[in-house]
Amino acid sequence: MSAASSVPGQALASAHRERLRTLLGASVTFDEPLAPKTSMRVGGPAAAFAVIRDVATLVAVLKFCVAESIAWTILGLGSNVLVRDAGFAGLVIRLAGAFTMITVNGTTVRAGGAAPMVAVCREAAKAGLTGAEALVGVPGTVGGAVRMNAGTNVEIGELIRAVEVVIAGEEAQTCTLPEFTYRNSTLDRRAVVCAAELVLGVHDSAGVHKKLLQHIERRNATQPLELPNSGSIFRNPPGDYAARLIETAGCKGMRVGGAEVSHKHANFIVNRGGATCADVLALIDQVRDTVERRHGVTLELEVHLL
Ligand SMILES: Cc1cc2nc3c(=O)[nH]c(=O)nc-3n(C[C@H](O)[C@H](O)[C@H](O)COP(=O)(O)OP(=O)(O)OC[C@H]3O[C@@H](n4cnc5c(N)ncnc54)[C@H](O)[C@@H]3O)c2cc1C
Repeated sequence: MSAASSVPGQALASAHRERLRTLLGASVTFDEPLAPKTSMRVGGPAAAFAVIRDVATLVAVLKFCVAESIAWTILGLGSNVLVRDAGFAGLVIRLAGAFTMITVNGTTVRAGGAAPMVAVCREAAKAGLTGAEALVGVPGTVGGAVRMNAGTNVEIGELIRAVEVVIAGEEAQTCTLPEFTYRNSTLDRRAVVCAAELVLGVHDSAGVHKKLLQHIERRNATQPLELPNSGSIFRNPPGDYAARLIETAGCKGMRVGGAEVSHKHANFIVNRGGATCADVLALIDQVRDTVERRHGVTLELEVHLL
């Protein structure tokens, strides 16, 4: 149904819980609700949820998952993820601490995998660096943006010179430069983005700030940001826009339970309150069927299903 959002494996057993507690102490919790950690606010709990703040711990935890064949995934700010109502039976990892650092050196911005894109854009603007302004409204982390090749006028892949990763099962962090395609990258499925280096251009700081504000205003005017959502649900098909196809198929306002196709932006589904993941998935199916009947185009999901 969508690009894989997790590395497959077995569910967490009670012996695994004990071992994770030993490895992570208070940084791991069990049966942790995931809905509040995603922008759509739907879905069930993670069997285990770990907040990891340094590379050494990340390497150790991923080695444990590989050795025990435990299903795992990495969650950024959850702005492109739909969590199933049953939740996730393995380990969900969220990066924090050292992974949120942003440093500027000349025209290079090095940002941790958990740094929010908005913070990266603000730091770049402060330093008078241009090129990333359009990404200010992407409400996710650098890691999520690299995995998804997030973009609007510019895609993050166009700005990236290097990506620091830990590949699950390997001993140390390595450097890579994946290929970037529309809302995707060749980044190894087992790779966790620890940091990325972006190379930007030079401009005056006030001018860059002005462009940031313009991008934020445009989003406020065109996107239903007042309600929980997960951004664009479908990828744009070649040469067209999913929003145009959905709107002209008459889907705006279509509703299942608490999930509704936004009146403001047809490629957004909003949670009007009390929506379940099943509501959102049923609505996705209805929209896809309606667009297919009306336009003969099969829409593909952009959002990742966990
Ligand atoms: C209001 C709104 C507007 C949006 N506008 C845009 C837009 O203009 N352009 C656009 O491209 N997207 C947009 N999005 C979608 C989303 O913000 C981006 O895809 C974003 O890059 C996801 O980042 P995240 O941290 O939230 O990742 P998540 O949603 O948490 O995860 C997305 C995927 O990335 C993986 N991932 C997360 N962190 C890492 C990491 N450190 N290492 C490896 N893999 C990782 C996850 O496992 C998952 O597969 C929008 C979303 C919303 C809600």
